[in-house]
Amino acid sequence: MRKPVNPPFSSGTNNRFGRSRLGGGVTATNSNARIVTHPLKVPDVPATRELSAMVNMGLNSERARGMMIQRLRDQGINNEKVLAAMMAVPRHLFVDQGLASRAYEDAALPIGYGQTISQPWVVARMISALCENGVPAKILEVGGGCGYQAAVLAQLTREVHVIERVRGLYDQARDRLKTLGLLPRVRLTYGDGMVGLPIQAPFDAIIIAAAGLKVPQALTEQLAVGGRLIAPEGTTTQRLVLLDRTGTNTWQRTELEAVRFVPLRSGVQS
Ligand code: SAH
Repeated sequence: MRKPVNPPFSSGTNNRFGRSRLGGGVTATNSNARIVTHPLKVPDVPATRELSAMVNMGLNSERARGMMIQRLRDQGINNEKVLAAMMAVPRHLFVDQGLASRAYEDAALPIGYGQTISQPWVVARMISALCENGVPAKILEVGGGCGYQAAVLAQLTREVHVIERVRGLYDQARDRLKTLGLLPRVRLTYGDGMVGLPIQAPFDAIIIAAAGLKVPQALTEQLAVGGRLIAPEGTTTQRLVLLDRTGTNTWQRTELEAVRFVPLRSGVQS
């Protein structure tokens, strides 16, 4: 049996799910917590101040990213390819300007529409698990949100398919990924990821960024034999699960850490 891929966390934390193996600073409630707030507000500051803040953020962001990478290492992430990919992506460009200064904290942040950009540790953990036996060539992400995780995946491989069900987020992700020159590698679809992308299947890896009660069967069927899927499962209590497709009709399931994600919903939101 495949052994679980948990990294060797040195310390744990207590959370409302009990004792977690997650390292300090990471709790099950901040991995991708649903934040239902008012629509994002652009701060009311003069344009010149905004501009200089952006320039400063650009200059400081590399240092902030370096600190984020060091923190991820301290939290047990040791896949150098994944760390390099996360070092390469300017996370602050995927959040509202008013939140840019917090972009490198280990926290989920609101991106509008009641959704969040995933916490860096969760992104690193999920992608590391997918890449444990080498980087998959063709990846499907369900729940593209603002496009951050897709941008990280695009640093690793050339074919990343992404589905997002909220039109406004799909538009934002498309614009950001285009600006960063990543659209040839990332193929975005506006639609319901619970049905997957049958036309493009099979996928070597599938990553689901929102939690359902169970991983939808359409997605397990679209995984290539030998491929791997990672997803949060549950409602108030959630856990990451890994599914390895070991044969045409066989999947091996491994349970990982407790997490907290926004819900996987069917249909689209225009
Ligand atoms: N991957 C993002 C995280 C986005 S949060 C990141 O890089 O940070 C999860 C996203 O899943 C939300 O944008 C939500 O709208 C989306 N989602 C939920 N159910 C979905 C479904 N059935 N199909 C596609 N997207 C879905």
